[in-house]
Amino acid sequence: MRHGNGQIRAPRLLDAPPQSPHLDLSPLRAYLLSMAIRPILTVPNPILKQVSEPVDKVTDETRALMDDMLETMYAAPGIGLAAVQVGVPINVIVMDLARDGEAPQAQYFVNPEILEDVEDVQPYDEGCLSVPDVFDTVERAERVKITYLDYDGKRVTEWAEGLYAVCIQHEMDHLKGIVFIDYLSRLKRDRAVKKVMKAEKLKATG
Ligand code: ZN
Repeated sequence: MRHGNGQIRAPRLLDAPPQSPHLDLSPLRAYLLSMAIRPILTVPNPILKQVSEPVDKVTDETRALMDDMLETMYAAPGIGLAAVQVGVPINVIVMDLARDGEAPQAQYFVNPEILEDVEDVQPYDEGCLSVPDVFDTVERAERVKITYLDYDGKRVTEWAEGLYAVCIQHEMDHLKGIVFIDYLSRLKRDRAVKKVMKAEKLKATG
């Protein structure tokens, strides 16, 4: 997810850095070098419609994916990213809601579930890294009680509210194959997809 102020126009970095072919690296160094910015899928890529699978256990492999996702999200820049957006349809989300100038506050969610929500809704001008440069208002529950496994595989259950509530609901929709433009009118949705396809085509042809 992106902040919905429509002001973010930084270029998106889509290419992973070249993997180092050098030998004699310690396993840790090799691991760090393998952290990479992954390409973000954009609409109408059918993978974004897939329902993600639960994760059995939080392993080093899961953490390596979450590290990559965070790098990818920061580079975009965005405030939330679901694994399916980098083509891995499993129930994993990363998020950082820190404001400009604040220290990073990375959050990791494995197998998140919503246990309760309040009926009150809040409208928010949403954006999505899979629908670049499109922003529109979506109404979501003001507060949601969520449970998930964190980076270390530890169970966390808490209430999310404000931007946290908006973002976790947006990202959890991705795990169900739902993108925020699915809530808009068909006209607006078609227009958004066309805009993204045109931009991607321009980028591909340089
Ligand atoms: Zn999104």
